[in-house]
Amino acid sequence: MSLDNTPNFLDPSLPTLNIGHPAIMNFRGVEVVIPDGLLEGALQELGSLERILPSEPPSRETGIGILRRIFLIVDQVGTLLSTGMSCRSGCAACCRVMVATTRGEAELLNDGIQKRSETERTRWSGTIRERNALLGEIAGKHSPPADLTRLDGLIETCESYEHEDQPCPFLGPDRLCQIYEDRPLLCRICWVLTDPRDCEPGEGPPVKFRTAVFHRAHELVGKVAVHHFRDDRVSPIPYWFREENGIG
Ligand code: SF4
Ligand code: SF4
Repeated sequence: MSLDNTPNFLDPSLPTLNIGHPAIMNFRGVEVVIPDGLLEGALQELGSLERILPSEPPSRETGIGILRRIFLIVDQVGTLLSTGMSCRSGCAACCRVMVATTRGEAELLNDGIQKRSETERTRWSGTIRERNALLGEIAGKHSPPADLTRLDGLIETCESYEHEDQPCPFLGPDRLCQIYEDRPLLCRICWVLTDPRDCEPGEGPPVKFRTAVFHRAHELVGKVAVHHFRDDRVSPIPYWFREENGIG
């Protein structure tokens, strides 16, 4: 397999190119076929959401609604591309890394959590506490301590965290995500073309598949956090559930 000459998927003009590129295939040799107009349509929908954002009165409820619409757009693209990706259900090395999340995504996730049984919530709380203790310990080894509410702090610490090989609090024993419908954006766009073993800690790095849609959605989720949740911080998933954030 060759991944040479891969088009730049972050190029916003990509949907106008001929992207039935023969060199884009996953490690099984399955070609990535992008249906005509798929990316263009998704970019238009994201653009519409982005244009109306500044005129909306800030509101948690509206913010959650927009996030769900962004997730729907991204999931529609992901579903149509999924056969060309290496990712498969139960293949979850990527659920051991630090997932950068905004406040809006954490609030949306919490809405889902609150609908679950007390047994599940209690179990997750315990694991969340453990992961936050570990995150605090890793951050504290830096001088000054790494700030886990800023992207710089996450970048400083993510490798050490990955080496600890600890699954996300929401990964089940069957290696499936237990909060799948409410998972954050980065869990929805973590598409890989190379062997899933490359995603294991200490292996790889995996070759990730990126499109302008994923890039645009990521920017928009950040803007929603600032506009509707008045919060520009970015943190690992469990870190939002510390008492001082008032989530959960
Ligand atoms: S990102 Fe890697 S570990 Fe995660 S589902 Fe895809 S191939 Fe598997
Ligand atoms: S939220 Fe779900 S998909 Fe995302 S890292 Fe956790 S278990 Fe994996």
